[in-house]
Amino acid sequence: RKTDIGIIGLAVMGRSLALNMADHGFQVGGYNRSKEVTEAVIKEHPHKNLIPFYTLEDLVGSQERPRKFMMMVKAGRPVDAVIAQLEPLLEEGDILIDGGNSFFEDTRRRTEALGKKGIHYFGVGVSGGEKGARFGPSIMPGGNARAYREVAPILEAIAAKAQGEPCCAYMGPDGAGHYVKMVHNGIEYADMQLIAEAYLLLKYAGGFNNQELAEEFSKWNKGELKSFLIGITAGIFGEADDFSEGQLVDYIVDSAGQKGTGRWTSLESLKQGVNVSMITAACNARIMSNRLEQRAEAKKVIPGPKITEAVPKTDSRKETFANLVREGLYAAKIVAYAQGFDLLFHASAEYGWNLDFGRIAAIFRAGCIIQAEFLNDITRAFEKNPKLNNLILDEFFLDKISRNQESLRKVLSCGILSGIPMPAMSQAAAYLDAFRGMPVGANLIQAQRDCFGAHTYERTDREGTFHHEWGQGYE
Ligand code: NDP
Repeated sequence: RKTDIGIIGLAVMGRSLALNMADHGFQVGGYNRSKEVTEAVIKEHPHKNLIPFYTLEDLVGSQERPRKFMMMVKAGRPVDAVIAQLEPLLEEGDILIDGGNSFFEDTRRRTEALGKKGIHYFGVGVSGGEKGARFGPSIMPGGNARAYREVAPILEAIAAKAQGEPCCAYMGPDGAGHYVKMVHNGIEYADMQLIAEAYLLLKYAGGFNNQELAEEFSKWNKGELKSFLIGITAGIFGEADDFSEGQLVDYIVDSAGQKGTGRWTSLESLKQGVNVSMITAACNARIMSNRLEQRAEAKKVIPGPKITEAVPKTDSRKETFANLVREGLYAAKIVAYAQGFDLLFHASAEYGWNLDFGRIAAIFRAGCIIQAEFLNDITRAFEKNPKLNNLILDEFFLDKISRNQESLRKVLSCGILSGIPMPAMSQAAAYLDAFRGMPVGANLIQAQRDCFGAHTYERTDREGTFHHEWGQGYE
């Protein structure tokens, strides 16, 4: 049978995308390295439009040219292994999509190598996990603009829809799609860390129990913080444990995993010279969380403050405190997105991608993990001013920051006095203060650099570069 597209790799994501495409009427060829996986998928999810193939030759033979394939295999070497097997079977004009979480530099390298043979390589970010892939993910394609027209009907059909529009749009050439996905994941790390900090504040300083937390987060999910992550968080606090009394959340070890896309974002930001301190803070928070044994030992010897009785246990005071946390979280969230988009601004210029930032926010509106009401406001900000160079400077967000920053400072002070670690919210306040022009102490640093290394300094009152012969007391 003839197929419209071949999916290579039928684990959770590949299988779900294949079924999603099949649901939309495309004839999908499915192939997996281990044939038992293909057999199991066909047995467990039979679909008239999903056709199994057991060799790459047969899969390739099932399509008219230009052929289209989407790899959904483990990022890294497996992608190169599949390319090595597939390349001899492909011809000029064929299209190969990598829909996994590949590092954008790898995508750039592969695009160039396959481009020499006239094969159009696409690095496509797919967000939304299994459910997203099955019923509508957010899709970030990067590759050749003309060739994109060949795959657009399939990708746009299977993408999530926000206000009727597909959450899939051409991002730019070579690594652009995977880059945007990487930054999406970085923002996701910061978003999740901020929500975790809000939870700690409410629980330990505010005395909220799980039921109250569930109610509070549900309330937040009806307002300006409405988002997928706030929604699932509300649900989590209500989830009963299977083994013991109470809620599951209280039985989960205080140690978070990571697959590395947050770390890539953080490393890339340092390379670009862009401050994404909240994403880095979120990565570090996970790293600290993994030090379980050391933390247990240190707990015995390092003293800390008693949790501040910040909120006397009356309902109205609790409500006031919860509002402060909500407003602080909202202000910090704006800063996190401003940082993430700042990295995209720089990458777009550095790699010549000409990214459309409003469109990026628009495709994050549904299907992906960071989907939120808030993203409509970001799209509006870029529509109003396509040259906007920091989200915080948009009129709408400026107003929100102005109204909510006091709450951020209040809950931060409360958290720090109570000994609650709040790395992401702290970075939000530090970024905001530096960005709004408060002195950052760099005059002293320049003096030190000039003093020990004759690195020179510039002056506030005259042009030029100066070196000072620093005086006594430095031996
Ligand atoms: P995995 O990342 O677990 O990868 C498993 C698949 O890779 C299997 O089909 C496996 O084949 C194949 N594979 C591994 N090594 C090779 C190799 N050397 N040659 C050929 N095939 C190989 O699958 P997922 O479905 O979880 O993810 C697929 C991609 O999507 C990954 O890049 C992932 O990061 C990304 N992604 C995942 C999300 C998720 O929620 N899971 C969300 C968004 C993106 P075999 O059965 O033979 O071992």
